[in-house]
Amino acid sequence: MLRIRRVGICGTDFHAFAGKQPYFKYPRILGHELSAEVAESSGNFQEGDRVVPVPYIHCGTCPTCLCGKTNCCPSIRTLGVHTDGGMRELMPVPEKNLMRADGLSHEQVATVECLAIGAHAVNRAGLEAGQWAAIAGTGPIGIGTLHFARLAGARTIAIDINPERLDYCRKIIGVDACVDGRENIVDQLREITGGQLPGRVFDATGVPAAMEAAFEYVGHGGRLILVSIVKGSISFADPLFHAREMTVMSSRNATKSDFNLVMDTLREGKIDISSFVTHRCQFDEIISTFDNWSNPSTGVIKGMVSL
Ligand SMILES: [Zn+2]
Ligand SMILES: [Zn+2]
Repeated sequence: MLRIRRVGICGTDFHAFAGKQPYFKYPRILGHELSAEVAESSGNFQEGDRVVPVPYIHCGTCPTCLCGKTNCCPSIRTLGVHTDGGMRELMPVPEKNLMRADGLSHEQVATVECLAIGAHAVNRAGLEAGQWAAIAGTGPIGIGTLHFARLAGARTIAIDINPERLDYCRKIIGVDACVDGRENIVDQLREITGGQLPGRVFDATGVPAAMEAAFEYVGHGGRLILVSIVKGSISFADPLFHAREMTVMSSRNATKSDFNLVMDTLREGKIDISSFVTHRCQFDEIISTFDNWSNPSTGVIKGMVSL
């Protein structure tokens, strides 16, 4: 049994709260970005141990799990999505889904799941040092992806339609270049990369038209990593795709090794979350606060609930 201490809020939660998340069945307790303490000693964990729950409950026995891809087990049940999550004082989580989070603050721990999505996408991409990597969409997932692409040695490009977010990427993350998504994106990418276009492009926009446009951003022989998921189909022009011998891949959730990388990176101070968490409230304030946090004009990047 866990005692929940922090819950990070993300887009999934807002969509579910608004009743617009097609995969949700209600009632549902939200909350999948968690920091917790062990409430009762059991197995390898003692009461009071600080832990991060890996919220993807996987079967552990299917061929996908057995080859280590527990993030996309066909019978995955994500806490706070398919099954009840952490917006409650006490919560049961299987021991195999707990990881020790010593040396991190509760607030840092509650950002691990969100940042791990980006770490996983960068791992999928097989980045080479010095390679140009463009990330479209600079919400929390895009920000995490930019951090890990930069730490992997890539030259990073942030693409967004929001100039304040681009400012954040420049000042806080230290990206090498920014592209204004309101202007011609391909032209700007060509200029930045000396005409070659980026070898790796990540989409974290959650917008179908932006995902389709991203096929045009990828250099010859490059890879497009779709971190976003949207309802329905996306399409692309085959001659463009074929001429570039492009690899297109999705990136879903994260694995324990991604969680470990994120925690090590936070411990080493290579990612500072002090400006990533922009909004905070107490558990009993959440109903009155939640709608406000879904409004981009409040400058929200990551909201955090304390219990
Ligand atoms: Zn999330
Ligand atoms: Zn499985």
